[in-house]
Amino acid sequence: MQTPVIDLKTARNRRIPNPDQIIIAGAGIAGLTLALALSGRGFAVQIFEKSTVLAEAGAGIQLSPNATRLLGRLGVLDRLLPSSVQPDAVCLQDGVSGDQLLRLPMGAGAAERWHSPYIVCHRADLQCALLDEVQSRSNIAMQLESAVTHHRSDAQGMMVRVQYNDRIEEHRGALLIGADGVWSNMRNAVSDLERARYTGSIAWRASVLVSRLPTSFTTLLPEGTNVVAWTGSNAHLIAYPVRSGEIMNFVAVTRDRKNTRRWDVEVNPEAPSRSFATDFHRWHPGIRDLVLSAGPWTPWRLFEMKRCRFLQDDRLVLIGDAAHAMTPYAAQGAAMAIEDACSLAVTLGPRKENWPSELETYARNRTKRIEAVVRRGALNQLAYHAKGPVALARNLLLRNRSAEKFVAGFDWLYGFDAEKPGGDI
Ligand SMILES: Cc1cc2nc3c(=O)[nH]c(=O)nc-3n(C[C@H](O)[C@H](O)[C@H](O)COP(=O)(O)OP(=O)(O)OC[C@H]3O[C@@H](n4cnc5c(N)ncnc54)[C@H](O)[C@@H]3O)c2cc1C
Repeated sequence: MQTPVIDLKTARNRRIPNPDQIIIAGAGIAGLTLALALSGRGFAVQIFEKSTVLAEAGAGIQLSPNATRLLGRLGVLDRLLPSSVQPDAVCLQDGVSGDQLLRLPMGAGAAERWHSPYIVCHRADLQCALLDEVQSRSNIAMQLESAVTHHRSDAQGMMVRVQYNDRIEEHRGALLIGADGVWSNMRNAVSDLERARYTGSIAWRASVLVSRLPTSFTTLLPEGTNVVAWTGSNAHLIAYPVRSGEIMNFVAVTRDRKNTRRWDVEVNPEAPSRSFATDFHRWHPGIRDLVLSAGPWTPWRLFEMKRCRFLQDDRLVLIGDAAHAMTPYAAQGAAMAIEDACSLAVTLGPRKENWPSELETYARNRTKRIEAVVRRGALNQLAYHAKGPVALARNLLLRNRSAEKFVAGFDWLYGFDAEKPGGDI
């Protein structure tokens, strides 16, 4: 299936010079959410985005209640709901036998328990919903094809140098936010900081029209509309519907046999999924059929940072993947970017002299939260990719624990409100 990208050129290029503005580098999920959250609190915002298209937009995303409650307050959820899907459950299945190991009810029950829905959607739909809301705010300006290359803080605030086409521009702001993703310039500008590390795993993404899925695979799907994860040794496959249920989105994570340090995988265009397909050759025939017939599978090397870092100095703050790129096993990277954005906006008061201590509070609160989420991701990785006796122990545990207990185990994660002190809803 053709992978859709968002052409940001449809977004109007706007600039309102203002030395008190807050400058955001990057118009990904983190940058756009932060612009909305700051705008709602009366700040003037200038976004610089180096691209004209959002390349990663051609994939699905799961948004848990801790993220949707914030998107709801920003006016984004209403724009997103018509094209998104609220799954009935999240199911864990054995990749070889196809048997169900666990079914966690979501749907209306999740919305009631955590006061906001669990949804799955296309990234393009999320980015468009954020962008539409950004465009409706008069105190947010956005300039495309503009890479922030240098920054310098002084007594007045922050001076930012921007490469705009073949011109170099200088812009002044009160604060610079690095929302520039896993390869963050803002983070790497400080030499002692850890750079993102290659995990040795690759995520492969594909989407298929539901009407074209092989029957051997559809018979494996539990009844209803679900997020399904099939587990196996050193690999897992996740499937969920997007685009109002018309398209099935797939993410498979495997070990990188070559384990080179490059992040972009070379794929043979003649047989794009053959090497990847061998990781599934002992799996259930329905999954093997799916792996061979779906595609092209787009590879994405997974990087992470072992330690998160939110503050570079009093005038430069990091959010989203720039601060804490994490593996996708807990499906929380974007949710954490959304939480960072709303937590930062709510912590920042109108008096600039208080910003240093307010930013310290932001960094402290977010570090604690991110570390807990990263630990959950590591646990999920262990459970998803278990083999031999570890897999048997996992299956025993899953069978003997009630679904209610598992659901309750998500309260700290999905019930969290990043805009409230302590996060209690
Ligand atoms: C396989 C996979 C599955 C995932 N699934 C989920 C999921 O289900 N749920 C979930 O919550 N998360 C998920 N994530 C994580 C999520 O995708 C990321 O955490 C999230 O997209 C990060 O957003 P961001 O805005 O911080 O960074 P990005 O999306 O990387 O945005 C950064 C932006 O900054 C721009 N930029 C870069 N440098 C500059 C510069 N110098 N000047 C100006 N602009 C610049 C870039 O062009 C880009 O637009 C998944 C990740 C992967 C890899």
